[in-house]
Amino acid sequence: MEIKNKVAIVTGASSGIGEATAEALVANGAKVVLAARSMDKLNALKEKLNQAGGEVLVVKLDVTKKEDFKNLVEKTLENFDTIDILVNNAGIMPLSFVKSLKTDEWEQMIDTNIKGVLNGVGAVLPTLLENKSGHIINISSVAGRKVFQGGAVYCATKFAVTAFSEGLRAELSPSENIRITAIEPGAVNTNLTSTITDEKVKEQMMPMFENMEMLEATDIAASVIYALKQPQRVNVNEVLLLPTEQNM
Ligand code: NDP
Repeated sequence: MEIKNKVAIVTGASSGIGEATAEALVANGAKVVLAARSMDKLNALKEKLNQAGGEVLVVKLDVTKKEDFKNLVEKTLENFDTIDILVNNAGIMPLSFVKSLKTDEWEQMIDTNIKGVLNGVGAVLPTLLENKSGHIINISSVAGRKVFQGGAVYCATKFAVTAFSEGLRAELSPSENIRITAIEPGAVNTNLTSTITDEKVKEQMMPMFENMEMLEATDIAASVIYALKQPQRVNVNEVLLLPTEQNM
C-alpha cells in the first residue's frame, strides 16, 4: 500500500513512539496531524518536519476529552479533506503496587489508555466508514499479554486495548474494509517511566530497564510503517516486539 499523500493522525505525537511514528509517516509522504497536550513540543516537531518537506498540522488534544477529538477531526477534515490512518498512541504508565492504593493514577490510566483509544476510534470512524477504507493502529503493549507485579492496572488497560483491537477487526475489517493493527512493544527507550510515582516500583523496575538494550522509538515506528505498507488484502492484526534481552 502507498502511504504517500495519505492523511494520518498520531496521538501522543509530542514525544517517544508518537514522535518517531510521525517522522516516519512524513518520510513516507503522508500528511500528518500531530496531536497531544504539549503544544510547544508539537510546534517544534512541526517545524522540523516542515523543513523535511512534510505537510503537517498541529492540533491540541487531550485524549480523555471527546470534545477535543471532535475538534481534531474537524480541523483535519478542514485542512486535508479526509482521514486515512489513526495511530492511537497516547498513553501513560504510572505503575504502582495495588496495595499502594494510588487510585487517582488508576483512573488516569483508564481514562487515557482505554477511554482515550475509544474516543479516538469514535471520532474518526464516521469518516472511515463513509470512505469504506482506513487503518487504525492501536499502540498496546506486551503488558496487554502478560501481567507483572506493579502493573496490575496498566496491564489491565493494555489487555483492554488489545481486546478492543480484536473486536474492531472482527467488526470492521471483513465488512467495512478498515484494517486494524495492535502493536505490542516491550521496553522502549522513551519518557514513559517518568510517570511512575511509586518509589517501590521504581526500585524494582528501573534496574530491569537499565540492564538491557531497550528498543528505540524508531523500531516501533518501523513496525507501524510495515503494517501500513502491506497490500490491502493483508491485515496485520498484531505485532509483538521485545528487546532481544527482555525476558518477560
Ligand atoms: P512518552 O511518555 O514518550 O509519550 C507519551 C505520549 O502520550 C506523549 O506524547 C504525551 O503527550 C501523550 N499523552 C499522555 N497523556 C495524554 C493525554 N491525556 N492526551 C493526549 N496525549 C497524551 O511514552 P511512549 O512514547 O513510550 O508511549 C507511547 C505509547 O506506547 C503509550 O501508549 C505506551 O503505553 C506505549 N508503550 C510504551 C512502551 C515503552 O516501553 N516506552 C512499551 C509498550 C507500550 P502530552 O504529554 O504532550 O500530552
